[in-house]
Amino acid sequence: MNAPILELVGLRKSYGENEVLRGVDLRVRPAELVCVIGPSGSGKSTMLRCCNRLEEPTGGQVVVDGLDIMRPDVDVNRVRQGVGMVFQHFNLYPHLDVLANVTLALRRVQGHSRAAAEALARAALAQVGLAEKAEAFPGQLSGGQQQRVGIARAIALKPRVMLFDEPTSALDPELVDEVLRVMRSLRDSGMTMLVVTHEMAFAHAAADRVVFMDGGVVAEEGSAADIFERPQGARTRSFVGRYM
Ligand code: ADP
Ligand code: MG
Repeated sequence: MNAPILELVGLRKSYGENEVLRGVDLRVRPAELVCVIGPSGSGKSTMLRCCNRLEEPTGGQVVVDGLDIMRPDVDVNRVRQGVGMVFQHFNLYPHLDVLANVTLALRRVQGHSRAAAEALARAALAQVGLAEKAEAFPGQLSGGQQQRVGIARAIALKPRVMLFDEPTSALDPELVDEVLRVMRSLRDSGMTMLVVTHEMAFAHAAADRVVFMDGGVVAEEGSAADIFERPQGARTRSFVGRYM
């Protein structure tokens, strides 16, 4: 088996008395698309945010490409370059055009020259089907297009793994598919992806593996067919039963 790109071992996170993650074990191997599903409040976002230290875990390990990113000598900025993240709200800068939004981190964080950053940004925009929109401003784009820019901004940095936190849940229904299509094409190009989603049809059709989180732990995991067609646990059954 290939070594995992991302591995969570006994991951714990508490907010005061509230233990939100109670020992999460999860692996994502190279080029895998793993979907995380589960009820609201089960700790999915917290788990993702621990993967690039947007949250500091209270216990356990987060290993990215063999490096325990909780080690005190680890450079958090470097970790974040290896772990791309796409959020529900795309947070583009409205006063910058698409190209400038995508080149910003390439220039400021990765130190590329303007020309190099623009070449990388244009390649990333082409990958999400938005090569023609480089000079547009976010306000001129649909929500689906803005989220595709958000994806381009993350992949332009050439991360080892991409995390998605409900990337389509802020979109009007007719705009969801274009984003899911881009995500599938990313996977087909070999990107390693961990995707929290409520899009059960997407998880069923596209995921190599599905993880069901409940109450701060991985309650069940398996192939998409395992989880959706033959769920074992009662909670998994009732959760996926609403979509099947
Ligand atoms: P999910 O993404 O599965 O809906 P979250 O990870 O967002 O779940 O939240 C899990 C729990 O952690 C919730 O009870 C939420 O209230 C709590 N929580 C999340 N972030 C914070 C925070 N910054 N401070 C305190 N509690 C938080
Ligand atoms: Mg969430």
